Amino acid sequence: MLKVEHLTKMFGGLAAVNDVSVEFGANQINAIIGPNGAGKSTFFNLISGVHQPTSGRILLDGTDVTTMRCDHVARLGVGRTFQTTNLFETATVLDNLIVGHRLRTHSGLWDVLINSKRLQAEEKAAREKAREALDFVGLTHAENRYIADCTQEERKRVAFALALATDPKIVLLDEPAAGVNPEETEGLAELMKKMVKNGLTVCLIEHKMDMIMGIADKIMVLDHGEKIAEGTPEEVKNNPVVIEAYLGS
Ligand code: ADP
Ligand code: MG
Repeated sequence: MLKVEHLTKMFGGLAAVNDVSVEFGANQINAIIGPNGAGKSTFFNLISGVHQPTSGRILLDGTDVTTMRCDHVARLGVGRTFQTTNLFETATVLDNLIVGHRLRTHSGLWDVLINSKRLQAEEKAAREKAREALDFVGLTHAENRYIADCTQEERKRVAFALALATDPKIVLLDEPAAGVNPEETEGLAELMKKMVKNGLTVCLIEHKMDMIMGIADKIMVLDHGEKIAEGTPEEVKNNPVVIEAYLGS
């Protein structure tokens, strides 16, 4: 599903992602873990086209997406959430999804605002997609709720729905369970399992080890931009290099 070859991203003199090669299989839950500043979010930004890599290749289902912009990558089937989700507080859940869909699949604000004829047709399609996504994440009852009135967990579910509304093949979830309680975390984990059951590939960054160890098929460990380990939860858990990286951070 996703194949990354020798991926590197330099920010000035800093290699935020350093020569990382990895393959994530279809229909699985793949996790990326590592200490703060390890390059996890940057890795997602490279795959989703937010940043252009300094070198290396990214193949999505065999298609080279290395230099594609994020709107193009989104249309090819990469959905994502951000570490800090920027939702419009004074808009409803449904409107956030409709606007979010447009922002994610178009190249710029101009493109989003102009071309009203095309927009009308797209708006209808976006509304349908949004409702489907809300149903999937269990938020249909809250579609008219203002974000400002939503709980932390509901916001997380809106973020999931945002990632799903672009009809992705693979969803990148950046710390989806940050700031929610254990019970809510369990609910979000169930949602990820449901995504996989529905044919999606999940790739998530997470600090909650209990959750990761319980649901991941494969884990990649990053430290200082480099891949220091990969394997099943069991393999990673018992890897001295991984333990060292966490203790040293
Ligand atoms: P993680 O998500 O694993 O905590 P990040 O990918 O956010 O780590 O960051 C990796 C490193 O790259 C950090 O040192 C961070 O300061 C740096 N970095 C991330 N984004 C940028 C950017 N846009 N410009 C410059 N440096 C960045
Ligand atoms: Mg991060």
